Amino acid sequence: MIDYVCPHCKRELHIKEKHAGKRGYCKRCGGFIVVPALSDQPPALDTESAPAPDPPLNPPSWLRPPES
Ligand SMILES: [Zn+2]
Repeated sequence: MIDYVCPHCKRELHIKEKHAGKRGYCKRCGGFIVVPALSDQPPALDTESAPAPDPPLNPPSWLRPPES
C-alpha cells in the first residue's frame, strides 16, 4: 500500500501499488490526485553494507584530562 496525503483535504490515503503513477480522485473529498509512482519512494537504507564504525580504542585528546 502507498501512503499518500491528499493535497486537497490533507487526509492520508492508502492506495494499492497497482494504482501507482496513475491519476484518480480522492475517495474522501473527490479532488483530483496523482498517485506517486513507486520509484518516487525513497529507497530503504541498506544497513548491512554500511556497518557502524567501531569506537576508537583510545579516547580523543580532548577527552583526556589536561596533563599537569
Ligand atoms: Zn481529498
